[in-house]
Amino acid sequence: MARLEDLPLRDNLRGKNPYGAPQEGAPARLNVNENPYPPSDALVEAIAEAAAKAASDLNRYPDRDAAALRQSLAAYFSKQTGVQVGADMVWAANGSNEVLQQLLQAFGGPGRKAMGFVPSYSMHPILCSGTDTEFIGVQRAADLSIDTEVARAEIARHRPDVIFVTTPNNPTGHVVQAEQLREILDEAPGIVIIDEAYAEFSSQPSAAELLAEYPTKLVVSRTMSKAFAFAGGRLGYFVADPAFVDAALLVRLPYHLSVISQAAAGAALRFADETLSAVKHIAAERERIAASLTEYGYAVFPSESNFLLFGPFTDPTRAFERYMADGVMVRDIGIDGHLRMSVGLDHENDRFLELSKRYAGEEL
Ligand code: PMP
Repeated sequence: MARLEDLPLRDNLRGKNPYGAPQEGAPARLNVNENPYPPSDALVEAIAEAAAKAASDLNRYPDRDAAALRQSLAAYFSKQTGVQVGADMVWAANGSNEVLQQLLQAFGGPGRKAMGFVPSYSMHPILCSGTDTEFIGVQRAADLSIDTEVARAEIARHRPDVIFVTTPNNPTGHVVQAEQLREILDEAPGIVIIDEAYAEFSSQPSAAELLAEYPTKLVVSRTMSKAFAFAGGRLGYFVADPAFVDAALLVRLPYHLSVISQAAAGAALRFADETLSAVKHIAAERERIAASLTEYGYAVFPSESNFLLFGPFTDPTRAFERYMADGVMVRDIGIDGHLRMSVGLDHENDRFLELSKRYAGEEL
């Protein structure tokens, strides 16, 4: 059997690790920032019905441009953000990971650079490797917020073609204010992707409010995987000037969104109000967990998402294993002394807190 090292792999992929969050192993999985609430019976039925209808057409390719779905996404996004956008400003793909990859295919690539403010979403650099885009990670401030002065200086120095700003940031939970975004956008020579995967959990206005000011620079990326409880459905989208949709059309695979995906996402969007009613409760649970962790003596980063970064642990890997052995899977994201937990069902959160209280008395 050949080993990976034996293959004529591109140099910039040599020695790299694939994305690899564990998918099973504990009764309470609080490790990948999913929405813990499964779809209602009514929604399951609506999806099954939509998929059955779509199935009678499976001999045909899907609508290449997903026009009906983009219309529904535009309506949802306009309502959620208060920023009126049309379907011509929305582009959809299989998860926001694919959306980000398409943007890198169009605006990054060999000889081009992307910048991110680390620690942030681990897939940004991995997508850069895949598209042969050089990734420049600019360190965040000690409190893990973005230092705008440092950001501007690094942008001026490196002149990146693509800049990623994640707000709320994964894995820290921080939000970036519109004024800070403006400073970054003003300095950016290329495009700025605002990754708003967790936006619905936050009270911050969407960066989409700046779209009219920065039509050739700003792209807002969103997903149905988190607040929308549709991680398994794989549907992400971006909102930007229609010219960005023209750019995506140049690099997307024809028929990238299956008939079934389009039908299922369309059905899920019709249940938006019902699904998103859980978001408020998740945010309230986040505050409850943060307050309890603080009471037990942990330091917790302020978060406007559905997860919390907390510590300190002398040995986070050992602490992770303790939680795991006690039935709770959190995430060791490789940040010194810290772990990340995603808000789960109430009883899972209770269990997590019970363990955290117990561990606070130990040397972990
Ligand atoms: N952006 C951020 C910041 C994320 O945390 C995630 C998921 N962990 C994604 C994008 C990708 O999500 P998906 O591909 O499921 O839309």
